Amino acid sequence: MESESGKRFDVLNPATEEVVDSVPECTREDAKRALEAADAAQRLWEDVPASQRARLVLKLGDLIEGERERLARIVTAEEGKPLKEARDDVQGAAEYCRYYASLARQIEGTVLPGEAKDRTIMILKVPLGVVVGITPWNFPAAMVTRKMAPALVAGDGIVLKPSSYTPLVAVEIVKLVESLGAPKGLVNLLTGPGSTVGDELVRSPITQMVTMTGSVEVGARIMESASPNLTHVVLELGGKAPFIVWKDADVEWAVRSALWARYWNAGQTCICNERTYVQDDLYDSFKKKYVAAVEGLRVGDPTKSGVDMGPLVAREQLESVESSVKRAVDEGAKLLVGGTRLSGPGFERGYWYTPTVLEDVDQDMDIVQKEIFGPVTPLRSFDSLDEVIEYANDSEYGLASYMFTRDVRTAMKAAHKLRFGETYINQVGPETVHGYHAGFRKSGVGGDGSKYGFDHYFSIKTVYLDYSESPEAPYIFPYA
Ligand code: NAD
Repeated sequence: MESESGKRFDVLNPATEEVVDSVPECTREDAKRALEAADAAQRLWEDVPASQRARLVLKLGDLIEGERERLARIVTAEEGKPLKEARDDVQGAAEYCRYYASLARQIEGTVLPGEAKDRTIMILKVPLGVVVGITPWNFPAAMVTRKMAPALVAGDGIVLKPSSYTPLVAVEIVKLVESLGAPKGLVNLLTGPGSTVGDELVRSPITQMVTMTGSVEVGARIMESASPNLTHVVLELGGKAPFIVWKDADVEWAVRSALWARYWNAGQTCICNERTYVQDDLYDSFKKKYVAAVEGLRVGDPTKSGVDMGPLVAREQLESVESSVKRAVDEGAKLLVGGTRLSGPGFERGYWYTPTVLEDVDQDMDIVQKEIFGPVTPLRSFDSLDEVIEYANDSEYGLASYMFTRDVRTAMKAAHKLRFGETYINQVGPETVHGYHAGFRKSGVGGDGSKYGFDHYFSIKTVYLDYSESPEAPYIFPYA
């Protein structure tokens, strides 16, 4: 959406620091207008049958997939992930559309007997109204349809606010939905600062739900700003996933999996392996293979094939990762590999950090407790299963966790005892469209994906119906 301010801001390529494009710098006034437009359009949209609403969303999925290469190049240019990962991000965006469209004929309620003859009670799911979707920069395509597709199928209107680092692919996705003839005002996108545009969207009485993916800090602020109107919030926040390798694990597979779960998207994924715990008997052999694998990662121009890792998204992110590593080393952690910015040919500009591994980390160090969100693995050994489960659960975060073992009893014990919204056993993510993606503790409130995530997009309403020919006077508890 254009801004009444007439101002624009630049979007930079994190690999080169060149300007990719610019977008409008929207204001609080723009946010109010977008919400009013969404409110008016939603009142008509809710009367369109769900199966028809789903058709639009299904077609959007096809359009996104058809334009995958073009959209993936935009993702790589604005976010810095290798093209092959950007294609997955875009494919994910298409799959969210398909999945939520498939739920249109499964919007179930409950029918119950009433408290008198010829009375019945219906519990129905009805659209919420206007939803605000606030998205982060790390999956700039998939996060958009993860919020938009369920909203549209449920009969809601939506106002989207993408991260200012990565608004470009979101703009393109909204153009695609408009090209399909979505009613004017039903889907709106505002680019601009979270502190003004985002804040206005959250505070408005028109907004019935804010679904936000981002940091704990901003999530807490949103919850506070939403509270005067008692607006629903769904928050998908940070993580500090423990990656546990038990002594009987297939070590080659565990190494490859730990590597992917850490260095995927340069470590900037909420379910990333943020701390690797390896059982004593396997520790040395795992460490040797893991360090060799990390040294073998190919870091470079994310548009080139064969590259495993691109730059970090922004200078602030680079500085934050750098200072986390420095603090850990100052506190006694040992660098096994990495620990510096990348320099030399190809790295003169951009936000590059070497894949890093640290050992001798203690449980109370920040590197083990705080989200790093970068290509850094803190590695430590453990003895017993009870001990490592205690380490794992000792975190204010509770999003993802990983367990590698060949013993089903160990796996199931971990699955029950790990207090996280997700446990991946002998496999890595990402989460699927039909799994519920939700964090425990400070990792979030509510979640996305699956029918449970879809439920957040509805209000639940009870209808009491008397269909008798000669209604009787009301009575309460006749047999009391
Ligand atoms: P962020 O919290 O800085 O920003 C997220 C969004 O909130 C952005 O669009 C931003 O503009 C907006 N925002 C900022 N201040 C706001 C305010 N006062 N009111 C309303 N909106 C505001 O997060 P980020 O740096 O973009 O993303 C990285 C974080 O996201 C990490 O912590 C990561 O773990 C988390 N994340 C979580 C999940 C998940 O599913 N749980 C997925 C991806 C990323």
